[in-house]
Amino acid sequence: MRSATKMTYKSPLDHLMDHDCDRCPLAETTDRICVGGSGNPKNRIMIIGEAPGEQEAVSGRVFSGRAGTLLDRLLEEAGLDRDECYVTNVVKCRPPDNRRPDRVEFEACRVYLEAEARAVKPRFVLLLGNAALQAVARKSGITKQRGLRLRVKDPVWANRSVMATFHPAYILRNPGQHSTLAEDVKRFARLMRGEFQVVPVRSKYVNTVEGVRWLRKQLTDLAPGTVVSY
Ligand code: URA
Repeated sequence: MRSATKMTYKSPLDHLMDHDCDRCPLAETTDRICVGGSGNPKNRIMIIGEAPGEQEAVSGRVFSGRAGTLLDRLLEEAGLDRDECYVTNVVKCRPPDNRRPDRVEFEACRVYLEAEARAVKPRFVLLLGNAALQAVARKSGITKQRGLRLRVKDPVWANRSVMATFHPAYILRNPGQHSTLAEDVKRFARLMRGEFQVVPVRSKYVNTVEGVRWLRKQLTDLAPGTVVSY
């Protein structure tokens, strides 16, 4: 049932949402059209999940169900206050039975996510799960991409510190990965504090006697803690 007027929580960027949107078929099945993000859009920190679930479609506040409770706790443990971040989703309407949003739905909602990004101008972006990884970084495979600082070419997201990790809802189903998610959130907090450095990788192709001599000298003069692979 469509109900454009039933509002409880009002997103601080609600003016960027269209509660009469019919850009994709999700508008026909959700209880609440276009759930915008929650929190503070002024601190230039964005956390992006997948799509509203049942609870969010009722409350109008993203991450207000069990996954949200876990997210709040992990952020707190990392020294971050959720309300100081702007928390939002790739897709703004709840997919039926909380199924994964499809590509048509992603693309239909891109206009809202990008409008939020332009308003927040985030310096730091945390992507929760594959949907956010795909929509923002256009990469797939959260297990491989998580915990890294991602290079994003899309001008809306370029020059921002972007990191991805598992979605809290995935961890509720797979508690064995809880500590990985917790560590990633702490790593994101360190990134924000400027304590997470990407180690520059230097490489040189050596194929002469001269080059081998140079390499030997480099190896004897190594600074403590340097990692070398060949
Ligand atoms: N999962 C999400 O990705 N977003 C929500 O708002 C709630 C659950």
